[in-house]
Amino acid sequence: RSKIKKYKRVLLKISGEALMSDQGFGLHPPTVQRIAQEVKSVQEMGVEICMVIGGGNIFRGLAGSAQGMERTTADYMGMLATVMNALAMQSALEGIGVFTRVISAIRMDEVAEPYIRRRAVRHLEKKRVCIFAAGTGNPYFTTDTAATLRANEMACEAIFKGTKVDGVYDKDPEKFSDAVRYDEVSFDDVLAKRLGVMDASAIALARDNNLPIIVFSLDEPGGFRGILAGEGTYTKVH
Ligand code: UDP
Repeated sequence: RSKIKKYKRVLLKISGEALMSDQGFGLHPPTVQRIAQEVKSVQEMGVEICMVIGGGNIFRGLAGSAQGMERTTADYMGMLATVMNALAMQSALEGIGVFTRVISAIRMDEVAEPYIRRRAVRHLEKKRVCIFAAGTGNPYFTTDTAATLRANEMACEAIFKGTKVDGVYDKDPEKFSDAVRYDEVSFDDVLAKRLGVMDASAIALARDNNLPIIVFSLDEPGGFRGILAGEGTYTKVH
């Protein structure tokens, strides 16, 4: 493995489901607070942090359209779900003294700032955590693509994708005991072998802009900080 890199600015991507814990739906405040602590501990290392949180714990566009809802409308509902998650994370972070901004790709000025790239960069420079909400603002995309887009725009050095497992495996480690974790894997292999790190458009956007994705376990307490300090296991997609 290549030697430890000191990151200055990163983007943390988590799925909406990471916020629901075992309850199966919605938000589990103690879990949100635990993740907020993880973010705070990384911020204390002097790292500038962007966040993108999915909405799958509340609503997914595809699920809505499968039940007869118009796809674009369902996708807007999914984007609104990400705003709720972003607000919950903001509240948890500010509760422990971390300054934040929720920045929405869909204008809702009473609730969140609109996305203005230079303004967001300024927030990061002032060590505010920027939580990017409402995905890309466009239907037919996912928050993985939004994460890759924002990470590129904010000149992040990597995307940290927090999941339930400590990296990318050749098959589902929760189903197969002989699944093998990759230390490193190329974007092309992720696409060709359909390794399910992120959806294909997000992977292609990361690949075309040389933006590495670090897949790690967010269930591991101290995991996020540990990886930035060069400890623990993870997979680097690059
Ligand atoms: N979504 C969208 N455009 C975007 C990002 C998200 O339409 O740029 C919608 C889409 O319907 C998606 C939902 O928001 O299903 C929630 O996002 P996602 O599925 O990425 O959440 P996650 O799986 O990460 O929780």
